[in-house]
Amino acid sequence: MRYVTHLSCTLCGRTYAPDFKYLTCPTCGETGILDIHYDYEGLKTIITKAYFKNNEDHSIWRYIPLMSVKGIETDSTLKVGWTPLYRGKNLEKILGIKTLTFKDEGVNPTGSLKDRASVVATIKAMEGGHTTLACASTGNAASSLAGNASKLGLKSVIFVPKRAPRGKLTQLLAYGADVISVQGDYKEAFKLSRDAINHYGWYNRNAAINPHMVEGKKTVAYEIIEQLNFNPPDWIVVSVGDGCTIGGVYKGLHDFHALGLIEHIPRILGVQSEGCAPFYKAWTTGKPLKETEENTLADSIAVGIPRNPVKAMRAVDYSNGAWITVTDDAIIKAIKTLGSTEGLFCEPAAAAAYAGLEAALDQAIIDKDSHVSVILTGNGLKDPDTIGKAIKGPVKLDNDLDALINHIESTHD
Ligand SMILES: *Cc1c(COP(=O)(O)O)cnc(C)c1O
Ligand SMILES: [Zn+2]
Repeated sequence: MRYVTHLSCTLCGRTYAPDFKYLTCPTCGETGILDIHYDYEGLKTIITKAYFKNNEDHSIWRYIPLMSVKGIETDSTLKVGWTPLYRGKNLEKILGIKTLTFKDEGVNPTGSLKDRASVVATIKAMEGGHTTLACASTGNAASSLAGNASKLGLKSVIFVPKRAPRGKLTQLLAYGADVISVQGDYKEAFKLSRDAINHYGWYNRNAAINPHMVEGKKTVAYEIIEQLNFNPPDWIVVSVGDGCTIGGVYKGLHDFHALGLIEHIPRILGVQSEGCAPFYKAWTTGKPLKETEENTLADSIAVGIPRNPVKAMRAVDYSNGAWITVTDDAIIKAIKTLGSTEGLFCEPAAAAAYAGLEAALDQAIIDKDSHVSVILTGNGLKDPDTIGKAIKGPVKLDNDLDALINHIESTHD
């Protein structure tokens, strides 16, 4: 918090003090998303490569000076972040790509990248004296908020759309959240959450509205860069729903670049599902973002009206990146590919990023001579129903060795 200089509105540019008590710009209203700015000159005096080398905190909190939290209670949270960055050698060979790395966000405490934002939300709520937090979510933000709130003894109220996957629902019920299943789509869940938050004064964890959420998510980019010894990849690939994650990825890269820790900002590939691709459509047509259908099995990126359009569009534009879409079939295929070649089990929205890489190689958007980092945003155990429908079940046999031998010899000849 010490290094936050001011907040600015992404629409009108008005600026506000670091401890500004509203989450969005009062002049622009709900769409006036704020951006948080830092004193990079001041930060440069402490944030050096040596700072990281000597830092034994292997969680998101190793970056506290670069974040908008005061740092109280951070030693009581779940351990979020410092997830593995794997080299994907098997897929490098199959795809013929020079270097491929996977950031496995599925191993965060509640199983998705959303923990990076939720844990920040719980700390900000405590800073402001709140005891209840709320959000609307297609699933992961919800289960993540519920788990992180539970650890700190806070209450959570969650608004989910009718279609939220069972794995995610079960998870957040187990964390003890108050769960309201809004009989409608994400849009309606979002509206009801907003009205209830205004009515009760709960802490608002809706990622797009709350600028501190991007500040949590940006740490995923810090980690990728650190884990690569400050040699940035050529491309970072990430799937996009509301646009907060991709906005965070860019923000993290921007911070490290401004601090002189990296020489160039990797290009960012934003991946959307063909059945729900408002960003892709706006980018390819040059027209303003338009509400679209939410027609994809990748529920975490089924967002017809993205709430963080400015930060997401900037992430691709400022990094000289690109947008791409993938089909549900390609997503399912990607789940199988990642699982069977690299031991990485992903939920559909996470596998979408990898499907996006395959498409970008096919379309020569990404050169095979590149280093590409793919962010796998969520764990496959989140949505076993959807994935299960698309993969072949087990072989059913009696307890009979001959039958087994028969089976093995008939399939492996
Ligand atoms: C939320 C989420 C995304 C997309 O993040 P946005 O900020 O909504 O763009 C991608 N994958 C998973 C698994 C998610 O939970
Ligand atoms: Zn404004």
